[in-house]
Amino acid sequence: MSKASSLRPILSERPKSNPPRRGVLFVLSGPSGVGKSTLCRRLVRHVPGLRFSVSYTTRSARPGEQEGVDYHFVSERVFRKLQKKGEFLEWARVDGQLYGTSRAQVNRSLRRGEDVLLDIDTQGAEQVRRSVADAVFIFMLPPDPAALRERHRRRGTDPRARARRLELARCEVLQSERYDYLVFNAHLESACRDLKSIIFAERCRTRRQRPRARRVLQTFRKGTPE
Ligand code: ADP
Ligand code: 5GP
Repeated sequence: MSKASSLRPILSERPKSNPPRRGVLFVLSGPSGVGKSTLCRRLVRHVPGLRFSVSYTTRSARPGEQEGVDYHFVSERVFRKLQKKGEFLEWARVDGQLYGTSRAQVNRSLRRGEDVLLDIDTQGAEQVRRSVADAVFIFMLPPDPAALRERHRRRGTDPRARARRLELARCEVLQSERYDYLVFNAHLESACRDLKSIIFAERCRTRRQRPRARRVLQTFRKGTPE
């Protein structure tokens, strides 16, 4: 049997009338330079069914960053226009620049049953907390402040921006208690493993599995399955 035909029964297992479960919204925050973007990139490569939400920002691209992959880089005028039209699920000003999450992009993925990962600051997370029931909030911490300084230095952040961002980090970490999960990013591998564990465990929550479980439970009511 060819590989494609052997997969067919599995792919057609879900009858067309059963819509996919709604995806889960994962919100990741943490001080600038802690490793959020690095880990988001890794996670979407390693976790099937997980999408990264590409934010809009007015800041300019760093070397190596790509339009539409890391961010949608727009002018302040365009950002304000989108904001006026209600296109943002949340938005905030961070270190003098505007950042926002596309409501349409997130909803489209969640409706399709894809889980969505947001890398946003604590102000944005607070807005999501108020507007999205059932989102999962994860905060990332460095092993110590010196590691954060060193990561900024290695990323090539200029000294003035680095000082501003480290000052912001002081306020951001105070919010960590409001999050459902804390992940320490001392080593990339273990931080990635912790994030994956959170995602897989959240997917298995009874309330998220209910539509699928209901179908299985029905077959038990009809008689013991063979
Ligand atoms: P953020 O998105 O939180 O601002 P980045 O993902 O851009 O942070 O990471 C900042 C820098 O730290 C990058 O140079 C990245 O390669 C590095 N980095 C991330 N995680 C680790 C880690 N566990 N150990 C060492 N360096 C790391
Ligand atoms: P950076 O400029 O280092 O990429 O990001 C600076 C901060 O902005 C980080 O804390 C990051 O999480 C946050 N950020 C990125 N995109 C968004 C967004 O769409 N909304 C909000 N509120 N914050 C964002």
